[in-house]
Amino acid sequence: MYEQKKQKELYETSKTLLKKKDIPNKGAAAKEVADLHEVIVYHEWRYYVLNEPVVSDFEYDSLYKRLEAIEQAYPEMITPNSPTQRVSNDLTADFPTVAHLIPMLSLDNSYNAEDLKDFDERIHNLAMIPQEEEVDYVVEPKFDGGSIALVYENDKLVRGATRGNGVEGDDITNNMRALRSIPLTAKFSDYGIHKVELRGEALIRLDRFDNINKKREVEEKSVFANPRNAATGALRMKNPKETAARGLEAFIYQLGYATDKDGNDVLNKFPTHHEGIEMLAALGFKVPTIERKLCKNIEEVSQFCLDWQEKRDGYDYEIDGMVVKVNQLAIQEKCGYTSHHPRWAIAFKFKAKQATTKLLDVEFQVGKIGQITPVAKLEPVALAGVTVSSVSLHNEDFITSKDLHYNDTVLVERAGDVIPYIVKALSELRDGSEKAITYPKNCPSCNTILTQQEGEAAWRCENYTCEAQSLRRLIHHVSKHAMNIDGFGEKYIVRFNELGWLNSLADIYRLDYDKISELEGFGQRSADNLKAAIDTAKQNGIARLLYGFSIPHIGRSVSKTFAAEIEDIRDLKDWTEEQIVNLHDIGPKVAKELLVFFNKQENLDLLDELDSLGVNMKRLDSEMKQEAITDGVFSGKTILFTGKLQLMSRTDAQAKAKGAGAKAVSAVSGNLDILVVGEKAGSKLKKAQALGTVEILSEAEFLERLG
Ligand SMILES: [Zn+2]
Repeated sequence: MYEQKKQKELYETSKTLLKKKDIPNKGAAAKEVADLHEVIVYHEWRYYVLNEPVVSDFEYDSLYKRLEAIEQAYPEMITPNSPTQRVSNDLTADFPTVAHLIPMLSLDNSYNAEDLKDFDERIHNLAMIPQEEEVDYVVEPKFDGGSIALVYENDKLVRGATRGNGVEGDDITNNMRALRSIPLTAKFSDYGIHKVELRGEALIRLDRFDNINKKREVEEKSVFANPRNAATGALRMKNPKETAARGLEAFIYQLGYATDKDGNDVLNKFPTHHEGIEMLAALGFKVPTIERKLCKNIEEVSQFCLDWQEKRDGYDYEIDGMVVKVNQLAIQEKCGYTSHHPRWAIAFKFKAKQATTKLLDVEFQVGKIGQITPVAKLEPVALAGVTVSSVSLHNEDFITSKDLHYNDTVLVERAGDVIPYIVKALSELRDGSEKAITYPKNCPSCNTILTQQEGEAAWRCENYTCEAQSLRRLIHHVSKHAMNIDGFGEKYIVRFNELGWLNSLADIYRLDYDKISELEGFGQRSADNLKAAIDTAKQNGIARLLYGFSIPHIGRSVSKTFAAEIEDIRDLKDWTEEQIVNLHDIGPKVAKELLVFFNKQENLDLLDELDSLGVNMKRLDSEMKQEAITDGVFSGKTILFTGKLQLMSRTDAQAKAKGAGAKAVSAVSGNLDILVVGEKAGSKLKKAQALGTVEILSEAEFLERLG
């Protein structure tokens, strides 16, 4: 329907429109309204027809609201085909269309407690209720599946339809009959109802969805991007058996229309929405239960919505928000409808976990042991409450496997407290201006040719005197888990380095505090504080010092193991490879790197220099040998890895965890303390989230903890 080039253009236009704030003058408004029409129709097509949106719901809503605002300022610009004048469309040519008994409208959106307060105020005004009187609301989950309408007549299911364009939908009666959660007969007659239209959502439970995709992978079929795709696809299967096989479930959440034998409206038999839903539950329909709450005022509504925003990741179904409905039908009636949505209901949208943005550039950062980490620079984008402008791309394999290009439009995700990451590039939005990301052959800092060690994904600059590396080593040396020099942050290191005061590690211990006190932004007090922190650090144990040298593979727990074996840190220069690998949990990689370091005269000189500057070289009593690793970061904890790990092999990960005192287990249970999740983590993650007692870490966070 849209060519690639056109799609790219519409995406760009959308992003430009999203930046606009003020209402334009009349001339500019006409042009903008035309643009908004075009992009909104495009995004609706991507969302409803392809099930693959390229902007977040929030961005789509912002475009929609912008159009509404301009139309409000210039009512003469409202045309019948404006997206604001109709609800969205998911009709297909494959099924006959049928008219709904009453239109299925969209919902207005809210994003925070403030919006909900405004909504409550509007309700009071529309229904002419004094603001100090409380209005009660029912809050239900906003399921992310396919909307359906069911008609029962004479207690029998006679019709099922998709939402379609809101006025008419696809007739999918046979598919609806195949769903076990939809009763074929229901005793509406007991309530004096002859004909009724119900609203609901057909969706697939997340664990079923995982199984469907796993099965499709085995069968070499394309996998579904999300449960909603799988659900809306299932609604329109040619064969009802296939619909049933996909495990669709239907939640019913609204009584839309009800008449008696004479055609009289009998909806008012249920004075409240809550009672209507209770009747449906009594008749055997699947209705929201624990996720539904009758709230006595808007504050209670806000709290319930915010609680669910936190809980949603552990929930069995995909939900993207909550729906708030006025409970009293009499008040609903007074509020009425716009052509687009009922005025008595509003959706509370959760913070978007995903957003699309542009990959502008890639910065190749040099780490403390020379490892090169590509970091993507993004066009800043709001994601789950923060602005994201750069994300790690980890290594070359990551870039290759995701087929990332400069200028690509990328889908970024940030779920819960997990560090934001790139899910994929939207290749359908490419217009030829994208360029492959070339990995540098030389160090971006010192130009040394990069090397890759066997079995490692990262490229490294092996020049120990590389400026970028030296700087990272200085920053590492003073950091919390190394020498722990309080208040000596990266900013100061960089500044002192630029001033020529800090070149080697030894320089840290011979800073001129008089000169520092005269620096802009400093003063006597901060210079004194820094001196005190550095003097304290001089008394540190030798494990911290060893770790503070940034020797490859010598992490915190390995440093502690060595510290327990020696009296003076310089004793290590006499150790042989055999002695080293005989130590518990120490492998040949560590041995090699340790020997390299302690065989270099310049490093031995550095140690003597540090000694003369007053840095402690002797083992502390507290560093004496202990049987088990009881002071590792994960000591006494059980740990489990799930999903495909991107940054390390599973064996490697387990060894690291063990080295830090953790005990590996194989299943999620009440005994599990930590779950580390890689890509495509499935049921184990869900189960752990549901338990609520398991600490969930991304790979990057796991490594960060290890230091
Ligand atoms: Zn370098």
